[in-house]
Amino acid sequence: MHEFSIAVNIIDIASKAAENEDAEKINEVEIEVGMLSGVIIEALEFALESAVKNTLLENAKIVIDKVKALAKCNDCQAEFEPDNLIAQCPVCSSIDFKIIRGRELRVKSINVD
Ligand SMILES: [Zn+2]
Repeated sequence: MHEFSIAVNIIDIASKAAENEDAEKINEVEIEVGMLSGVIIEALEFALESAVKNTLLENAKIVIDKVKALAKCNDCQAEFEPDNLIAQCPVCSSIDFKIIRGRELRVKSINVD
């Protein structure tokens, strides 16, 4: 499962950051997930639930921030919210656009004790 390896990765990053600060436990981890990152949020939440067992994150609150997608048309410069990577510009129907936002997948902040 794709999301499970992402969950393990997130826990790794957060645990290392906590160790660097000599933290005993992690209270909260905030994760940013872009709507175009290919990650299924529900699956990620489910994976995190089991992956945190016996780690510093076991009792941490995990907050997932969904980042809305934003694209800019290369033909008419209009900005729009694409549903996926094979969208169309709603103004000129061009399929030539660049993704400005929405592919994020990162640990945004960590709150430790
Ligand atoms: Zn356009």
